[in-house]
Amino acid sequence: MALTMELIARPSVTPEDMGCQSLINQRLADAGFDVMPMNCNEVSNLWATHGSGSPVLVLLGHTDVVPPGSLEQWESSPFTPTIIKNRLYGRGAADMKGGVAAMVTACERFAATGHQGTLAVMLTSDEEGPAVDGTAFVVNELSKRNQRFDYCIVGEPTCDEIFGDTIKIGRRGSLNAELTVFGKQGHVAYPEHAINPIHETTRFILQIIHMASDDGDADFPSTQCQITSISSDSGATNMSPAQLHMKFNFRYHPNASAEKLRRQLEIILQHHQIEYVLKWNSGAEPYRSSSGSLRSAAIAAVQQHTGIAPALDTGGGTSDGRFLAAHGAEVIEFGLTRSSIHKVNEWANLGDLPRLSRIYEQIMRDLLGG
Ligand SMILES: [Zn+2]
Repeated sequence: MALTMELIARPSVTPEDMGCQSLINQRLADAGFDVMPMNCNEVSNLWATHGSGSPVLVLLGHTDVVPPGSLEQWESSPFTPTIIKNRLYGRGAADMKGGVAAMVTACERFAATGHQGTLAVMLTSDEEGPAVDGTAFVVNELSKRNQRFDYCIVGEPTCDEIFGDTIKIGRRGSLNAELTVFGKQGHVAYPEHAINPIHETTRFILQIIHMASDDGDADFPSTQCQITSISSDSGATNMSPAQLHMKFNFRYHPNASAEKLRRQLEIILQHHQIEYVLKWNSGAEPYRSSSGSLRSAAIAAVQQHTGIAPALDTGGGTSDGRFLAAHGAEVIEFGLTRSSIHKVNEWANLGDLPRLSRIYEQIMRDLLGG
C-alpha cells in the first residue's frame, strides 16, 4: 500500500511519468533486477529482468493515468493518496498504480527466493494515450534482439464487482471508420431531380449495424457496430442535402479481421451503387489467449487467495496485452475491481492490494518454480 500511495502522489497524467518509473527502477534494481529504461519520444518505458533463459514471464503495466476530470467533484485531492474507511482514494488507485505496486512488491519477494527462467517487468507511460511509443515500441525493440515472451500477466483492473471475480483471456479488436455519402442537392418538391444521401443511407444502415453480428462463440461476444455520429443538413427546409457524414466503430471478434470487415462493408456500399468515400482509422487488433499453464496458474491463485472461482471474460476495451499476444505469449489479465476507474473519486480496496500481490507471487512460483 505504501508504494501505491507513493505512485498516486506523482501526477502522471498520460504520457507524463513524473518519476513513477525511476522510483520503480530503484526498487527493482535493489531487488537484483537488470533495469533498462526504453524511452521513446515523450513516453517513458521500462524493461527489467531477473534471472535468465526460459520460460519468460512478463508482468505488464502502465504508470500513466487519465486526467482527474472535474476537481470540485473529488472528495479528496486526486493526487493526494487518501484513506477513508477501507478504501485508498486517488487517481490511478485502481487503474493501475495499485496493480503496478502489487507487481513490484511480488517481484521483490519472489526474486529473493531464487527461481528458473526470467521474471520480467514491462511498464509504459502511454497506455491511456495513443499507445504507439509505449508497449508496442518496447515489444518491437526487444523482438529485434530476439527476446522471447512466454507468459504475460497484464495487471489492469479486471474485476467486475468483487475482487477475484474476473480474469480476462482476450480482448475484442476495435476499428473506426468514417463514411461520406454523396448525393445531389435539390428542391424537395422535385425529388426526381435530386439524390438525397439521407434516404440512400437508410437503405443500408441496418446492414452495417448487423454486419458480422453472428460470429460469437464461448469466449467472445459477436462483432458489434456502434454508429457514433451522423450528420447531414441542407440548411433549408425546402432543399435536400448534398452529403451525409457518418462515423462508426466496430468491436470485433478475432475471427472477423479488420481486413474482412473492410471487404464486407465495401461489398454493401458497392451493392447500393452510391457515390462514397470511406476512411478507416487504425484501431486495435483483437487477441485470444490459448488455455495454457498461465491460465491454470492464475485461476488457482485467484481461487486460493479470494475464495472465488473467477469468470473468464473478453469484454471491455482494448489493452496492451495484444502486443505481447502478437509475439506468441500466453496472456491473461488480472487486477483490482474496475468500478471506479476513469471516474472522479477513484479508489482501491485496501485489503485487495496485498492479496493481489500474493496472487502475482503465487503465479510466479507456479511458472518459474521458486
Ligand atoms: Zn489501465
